[in-house]
Formats: sequence, structure tokens, C-alpha cells
Amino acid sequence: MRACGRAGDPRRSLACPGRVTPSEEEAHGRVEFRALCTLLRVVEAVVFDIGETIVKDDRGWASWADWLGVPRHTLSALVGAVVAQGRDNADAIRMLRPGIDLAAEARAKEAAGFGERLDESDLYSDAGPALQALRAAGLGVFLAGNQTARAGDLLRAMDLSVDAVATSGEWGVAKPDPAFFVRVAELAGMPPERTVYVGDHPANDCVPAAAAGFRTVHLRRGPLGYLWADGADAAVADWHIGSLAELPDLLGRQDAPRVC
Ligand SMILES: [Mg+2]
Repeated sequence: MRACGRAGDPRRSLACPGRVTPSEEEAHGRVEFRALCTLLRVVEAVVFDIGETIVKDDRGWASWADWLGVPRHTLSALVGAVVAQGRDNADAIRMLRPGIDLAAEARAKEAAGFGERLDESDLYSDAGPALQALRAAGLGVFLAGNQTARAGDLLRAMDLSVDAVATSGEWGVAKPDPAFFVRVAELAGMPPERTVYVGDHPANDCVPAAAAGFRTVHLRRGPLGYLWADGADAAVADWHIGSLAELPDLLGRQDAPRVC
């Protein structure tokens, strides 16, 4: 759909031979048309949280359970319990080893060959196809989540269909800090209102991203995605999905009309 006039139209613009100078009524209609375009064609980039959105957290927590010598289910259940209490998930480890120096323990774990690992087997099965489909639709695709700097390196080493990867460890700021989402907008290179942030954690993903002006998708998966799916924080999301496979149809439509 185009708003240009016919050749020979006396209102044709000298600055743009393909354009006409609109009447006041037409100008008003064009403003409305642009607003419609903005609504229809609002999404230009998609930024994904990483843990339990793109990557399963199984390996990391299993590794800690093995290192600490406790059943994996015990640590996983404790992680869920402390997070549901509004506490740091690392408190689960502190409960098992009161007084533990987590940074020193992580270094010892790494030195012993049980450090942080990530490869394609850690990806959710719908992640790769969704990333590819969104990029094929012309959207910018990025990963940005609360992860270590090493996780960023490991993700970049995979053959993922993304424009860029960034982590809180690299930026020195973590969700839900608003400064994290300032960095997300810089990463995407788009105004927040044209960017969607996708995540499983309503309080860390949906709420601060929406407050920063992003469109948001809540992904109902992972322990927190299920636990808080029906809460007030998840309710702020623009869209609610159960699989990344839903995103290409939801966000990939690029057929909205442009004005002349
Ligand atoms: Mg997450």
C-alpha cells in the first residue's frame, strides 16, 4: 500500500518526484497510517535471556551437586526453594556448605576439571530453529542474560544464528538492574519499543524490560517460568508462550505496509 499520487498530480512534491504534497486531510490520514505501521511493524530485534530460555541449567547445577557430593535432586530442590523465598539461588549451596567461599570454591572446581561447560547439548531443542527463523525473517537476534563471562565465550563458540551475545559478567551489571537493559538496547541497536526481550523469569526479565520500554515475552518453562507464570510480574508481558517455536509466527511478520 502506497500513499503516492498519480503522475501529473499538481500536488506532486518537488523534493520527491514520487511523492505528492498532501492536503491537510491526507496529511492527517498519513499520520494515522504511520501510527498503524508502527503498531504493525513494531518489532525489529529480539533479545533472549539465556538460562532456561535458550540454555538448560541442568549441567551447571548437576556439576555443583557432584562437586559438593550431594544428590542432584537435593540441590535442584534447594535452588527452587530459596528462589521461591526471594533469595539468591547460590544460597542453596551455602545451605549445604555453611560459610563456603563460593568464588574460591568455583576456582577450585574449575582447576579440578569440573568448571563451567556449555555446548549444543545444553540448548533447548527449539532454540536453534527459532533463532534461525527469526534471523531469516529479517530480525536482529541477540542473547543477553545473567551469566558469567565464560558462558558468553562458550555461547559464542557455538554455531548459533545470532548477531551477538553478551552476559552480565561481561557488562558488570545484572538483571533486574535497569542499567542492564540500557546495555541491551545498545546491543540491539534499536529503540526499546522496537525490540522484544524474551525470558522465563518474570521479575528479572519481563518487569524490568517492560519498565525500560521493551516489548516482552514471558516463556513458560524452567522452574521459575512455571512457578510464576500466572503471577502479576508475568502479567506485564505483551505475549506469553510455551515454546520458542511460537516466536517466528508471532514476531516474524514483516509484511506491514510502508508509506511513501
Ligand atoms: Mg532465565
